[in-house]
Amino acid sequence: MRTVGFIGLGAMGRPMAANLIQAGYSLTVYDLVESAVAELTAKGAKQGMSPREVAQASEVIITMLPNNAIVEAVLTGSDGLLAGSRPGQIIIDMSSVTPGHTKKMAALAEAKGLDYLDAPVSGGVVGAKAGSLTIMAGGKAEALERCRELLMALGKKIYHVGPVGAGDTVKLVNNLIFGIGMVAVSEAMTLGVKAGLDPQVLHEVISVSTGRCYAMEAKVPNFVFKGEFDGGFAVDLQYKDLEMASQTGKELGVPLLLTNVVGQVYEAARAKGLGRKDMSSVILLQEELAGVKVRT
Ligand code: NAD
Repeated sequence: MRTVGFIGLGAMGRPMAANLIQAGYSLTVYDLVESAVAELTAKGAKQGMSPREVAQASEVIITMLPNNAIVEAVLTGSDGLLAGSRPGQIIIDMSSVTPGHTKKMAALAEAKGLDYLDAPVSGGVVGAKAGSLTIMAGGKAEALERCRELLMALGKKIYHVGPVGAGDTVKLVNNLIFGIGMVAVSEAMTLGVKAGLDPQVLHEVISVSTGRCYAMEAKVPNFVFKGEFDGGFAVDLQYKDLEMASQTGKELGVPLLLTNVVGQVYEAARAKGLGRKDMSSVILLQEELAGVKVRT
């Protein structure tokens, strides 16, 4: 498993692909954005001119793409991954997508003799750069074992969580908590600052109290305090994750009150033009309503 294809060289995909090159894998990459491809070819990757070419050059193909529709197009298009595939290969989709979509893609891949793993990640761009992502994999345990060494270049916490689609389910459950957490932190911090508290003190005390959470620990100092919301995890992507949770709740008959209300907060942020900004930028809406800024 030395030849690896990598499709989707965005905020996450670029550092992940770079880590695979660093670990000695021979990479063939593809993205619609030429500058993203150039960044990886400068590090030693080969350029595939289509997903089909990437498949032809690789034993394992990783996809790290925005959503269901794009993963499907990359797999099933006339110049897609499956058009260039051969039996025995493994596709690892590390995008955050829905379990139902993944089951459909896995069935198409398996019909052609490939193995399919859904292996979404947590840890953000920081974790992608550090090679310290948490990886939650669904699919055959044996296929995961064949890829474990490769995945170790991307993250050390690798979990086999069940059959195909189970990785996606864990991911959307996780991001439901994270998305709601960020909005809770936005409300709490604007209240505290409006009441006259020092945001730095609030952050320090809450980070060792029962209100602590990842949104408070990481997003507040890295984005909110600086008032800089570029890079990171886009509002559009967090919105998509809440939508996927909401859709899955409907399919399974599970009411998700907070998920749906908080989804509208991210919708409002998108309406304000914040879609490509880090998800912590939802605090800007709350700051405007409260008439305060949570900055140091
Ligand atoms: P991104 O938007 O930065 O990158 C997506 C990349 O896919 C872009 O480079 C884009 O050009 C490329 N792309 C789009 N359509 C394509 C196509 N048809 N063919 C080839 N390439 C195409 O997104 P990201 O932040 O890197 O996230 C990727 C995935 O990882 C998403 O599913 C996201 O939800 C998930 N994720 C992101 C983070 C994060 O912190 N950013 C964390 C965990 C999981």
